[in-house]
Amino acid sequence: MERRKLVIIGSGPAAHTAAIYAARANLNPLLFEGFYSGTAGGQLMTTTEVENYPGFPDGITGPELMEKFRNQALKFGTSMLTEDVISVELQKRPFIVRGKNTVVEAESIIIATGATAKRLDVPGTRDGEFWQKGVTACAVCDGAMPIFRNQPLYVFGGGDTAVEEAVFLTKYASMVYLVHRRDELRASKIMAERALANPKIKPIWNTVLAKVEGDTVVRSVVLQDLNTKNEVKHPAGGVFFAIGHTPNTAFLGGQIETHPNGYIKVEPFSTRTNVEGVFAAGDVQDHTYRQAISAAGSGCMAALDAERWLSYHE
Ligand SMILES: Cc1cc2nc3c(=O)[nH]c(=O)nc-3n(C[C@H](O)[C@H](O)[C@H](O)COP(=O)(O)OP(=O)(O)OC[C@H]3O[C@@H](n4cnc5c(N)ncnc54)[C@H](O)[C@@H]3O)c2cc1C
Repeated sequence: MERRKLVIIGSGPAAHTAAIYAARANLNPLLFEGFYSGTAGGQLMTTTEVENYPGFPDGITGPELMEKFRNQALKFGTSMLTEDVISVELQKRPFIVRGKNTVVEAESIIIATGATAKRLDVPGTRDGEFWQKGVTACAVCDGAMPIFRNQPLYVFGGGDTAVEEAVFLTKYASMVYLVHRRDELRASKIMAERALANPKIKPIWNTVLAKVEGDTVVRSVVLQDLNTKNEVKHPAGGVFFAIGHTPNTAFLGGQIETHPNGYIKVEPFSTRTNVEGVFAAGDVQDHTYRQAISAAGSGCMAALDAERWLSYHE
């Protein structure tokens, strides 16, 4: 069986940054970029303009940015497999990484499999409908886009993320409607109070999204009152899902310690997991920042942590 010093699992900004650093450090990394597990290239493949990634003052599309990441990782000698990792064996070293078609031994592993933003499956919100044409799952990423300026914006969710996103969007929106299926927010008390005191946020309780309509972009939402079952159409310039993320950790089979919300636990100020020689970077271990630049930064940290760990154990 082939043996590698470092196997990287994932293909977003964290995985590719880790690969760039590791390849330049002569660790000869092998990267599983995924196939069915999510779009190879990560979450940015599902978005249009990225305006907040430093170095691109005129913006760049998500797929273009990820192509540049990938090419840079390849340029320094990263081997890539367009395959999902199905399982890993972490009880003893070398570890075993089992891909769909390829099985390798790994002296160290970087997990950078990201997280998947949850979306409501409602008519009008799907790929090919208004997804990324006014429907999105990331206010911090997309809120500043011109299509959302001075428009009524609808945020769906009731937890801390929903409240944060609603407050963030007040900078751009004519009004932010925070739509929740219950009659009170799940968010922490202080955040909920702050949001509800904001004159630009109007809560809409006991209500769900029934449909999104528009032409080239979103123009309206149809909301259903859960008590009366009545549906009412409202003008809307944007729909923001804030119903959480699912970290992509199923293939780990519980061998790595996670927080109660499923995100991988790393030691503070490092990317070390509870298993020696296994590191985690990007959104799979970050339920706070969840941005491309923070994912890339932690990918760099993971490669440096792995390199130091490998040289110590050699
Ligand atoms: C719609 C949208 C717009 C966004 N816009 C911005 C923005 O403008 N600016 C910004 O900074 N951030 C933005 N973000 C957030 C940003 O995309 C993420 O923070 C970032 O992509 C996280 O990078 P990552 O490397 O941790 O993993 P991800 O980008 O989540 O990529 C992980 C990838 O790993 C692969 N993978 C998963 N499981 C396996 C497996 N078992 N085997 C092999 N491969 C696997 C999959 O291909 C997966 O896509 C946006 C997110 C979304 C959803």
